[in-house]
Amino acid sequence: MNSTLDLEQPPQKLFEITLPQTVLIVDDNPTNLRVITDYLEDYGFTILVARSGESGLEKALHGHPDIILLDVMMPGIDGFETCQRLKANKTLQEIPVIFMTALSNVEDKIKGFKMGAVDYITKPFRREEVLARVITHLRMRNLTQTIQKQSESFQTMAYELLEANTVLSKLAIQLQASSEVGQQVISILNLNELLLEVVKLIQTRFGYYFVGVWLITKQENGSENQMISSEDKTDATLYYKGNMAILQAGAGYDEDQLPVSGLVQPLDDGARSIIAWVCQTGQPYLATNVALDYKYVALKELAQTKSELVLPLRVGQRIIGVLDIRSDSVATFTADDCKVLQALANQISVAIRNANLYDEINHLNENLEQKVAQRTAELNSAYQKLERLDKVKADFIKITSHELRTPLSIIKGYTQLLKELLAIKNEPSTTELLAGIISGVDRLYQIVNTMLDVVKIDTQLLEMHAKPTTISTVIGKVKRRIVEELKNRRLTIIIPELEGLPIVQADVDLMVKVFYNLIINAIKYTPDGGTITVNAQEIERPNGTAAIDPQRAIEVIISDTGIGIDPAHHQQIFEKFYQAGEVDLHSSGVTNFKGGGPGLGLAIVRGIVLAHGGEVWVESKGYDEETCPGSHFHVLLPLE
Ligand code: ADP
Repeated sequence: MNSTLDLEQPPQKLFEITLPQTVLIVDDNPTNLRVITDYLEDYGFTILVARSGESGLEKALHGHPDIILLDVMMPGIDGFETCQRLKANKTLQEIPVIFMTALSNVEDKIKGFKMGAVDYITKPFRREEVLARVITHLRMRNLTQTIQKQSESFQTMAYELLEANTVLSKLAIQLQASSEVGQQVISILNLNELLLEVVKLIQTRFGYYFVGVWLITKQENGSENQMISSEDKTDATLYYKGNMAILQAGAGYDEDQLPVSGLVQPLDDGARSIIAWVCQTGQPYLATNVALDYKYVALKELAQTKSELVLPLRVGQRIIGVLDIRSDSVATFTADDCKVLQALANQISVAIRNANLYDEINHLNENLEQKVAQRTAELNSAYQKLERLDKVKADFIKITSHELRTPLSIIKGYTQLLKELLAIKNEPSTTELLAGIISGVDRLYQIVNTMLDVVKIDTQLLEMHAKPTTISTVIGKVKRRIVEELKNRRLTIIIPELEGLPIVQADVDLMVKVFYNLIINAIKYTPDGGTITVNAQEIERPNGTAAIDPQRAIEVIISDTGIGIDPAHHQQIFEKFYQAGEVDLHSSGVTNFKGGGPGLGLAIVRGIVLAHGGEVWVESKGYDEETCPGSHFHVLLPLE
């Protein structure tokens, strides 16, 4: 039962001890014994008494007192001897001993302390003093015990902290290395360079004897680099048929002394070695002491190996190789090491996949570039061919037109002469024949002239003799030349009053060519009975920039009620030799309906108009021989 000291002040504050505490009193004097016993019992102590040293030792052993009051002078073994024996006993030596001695005996006191006593009480006692001393020493003992316990737990804590700190700093290093590897992995895309960097990093950071990456490679004549399920095995063991693991990158060994590049481990079914096992099973393997490991196959290049950790590298489901870490002492790898290194192995796997992808993309890009280059070269040569052809064509026109013109002129002259001959004049059948020849020659002559015009435009040799003239003059000249054609085709031409229009600076002959060609086309592509309209007006030609005054110009529009032109051809018809319709269908007559020419008319029109600083374009809803939507050719000639 717990009770506290019955004193005025709260006992825990005064004494800081908890009762019951056991006091062993060893004294041969019964009077003394009773006095102290009664007194201390009143304060709630449990009292054990002994009348001799021997009996005191006995009671101490069995009763485990908290404190011992020991008389010096006793029959049998005296107090000193008893004290000595108490201190010699392991289970008792911690119990504080207070000697009870005569007032005068200083030597006894000193001897008592020497024997291991903590205090003394002089006889005859004063009970209060006894109580005070007992309490003081019990308190001290309690404190000592508490401090001892605390210091013990402090020590454990300090030790644990130290442990934790070591683990943490190791982890920090590992994490840092891991992040560095990660960074390398992201930044380096060349596989070999990357693997070398990574193994070096792991080796230096963690201080291992050797770090290497082995990659599975198929043999020259081997099958696909693929995992094959072993059919004659019941477990899920996988192996690589005819494959090997090749050391792709290694760090830590003395490269000059022992070149390990080219190290190979066979992976065939039944191949022995930790690397083969990891490649086959996809499981990590730790050999804490390779000397005792039956899977371990020693390599003379890595003879210092004492323990080894081999981790699989996988991309998706496929094992592509292993990360091989070796130490030159046994039992190096802790569970934490394995975890961190496996994380690194995973990062390496990702890197290998990225590098492979990168290689693939590079390869594709190279292919693509090659193809583009090839196509460009082809196009270039085709273009050059076209250019050559174009030049040949231009040369051909130039030469033929020049060469044809002279004999044609002569033929033309002679036929005119023949026409005048009386003999022929009087012979109707011959006259008719001659008329045919003359018209044919005229047409040829016209074509040759047109070709010459094109050549002049192309070579920018078109001679222009611009002088003030009017549209009315030009159109008037054209109109006189087409009277026959209009009549033959029963076409109506409407030309409004053009006299009021301003004067233009232009080469009249060339302008006549422009409008002659346009009106002849209108005749050609309008069915019999149709209408051709010539309109002209002064307009302001927008300049694009507001700062400059708009240019004044004359716009002439030749409209017809003909077959029209597909908008898709509106640009091309102005190219030389371009004909919108089917060439074969063209009849040969100059003004027959749809009677085609060489496709040069509009090219000449454009060349002349551009040479005058003007513009020409066509507007037409489309091509339709049934509904005849008609065409409108616009010619813009600047006035200044
Ligand atoms: P062509 O000698 O064939 O007439 P052009 O250069 O004068 O050559 O005209 C090119 C092509 O433009 C013609 O083949 C024809 O298809 C089309 N074309 C020109 N003028 C007209 C028009 N007024 N109506 C319909 N088509 C036209």
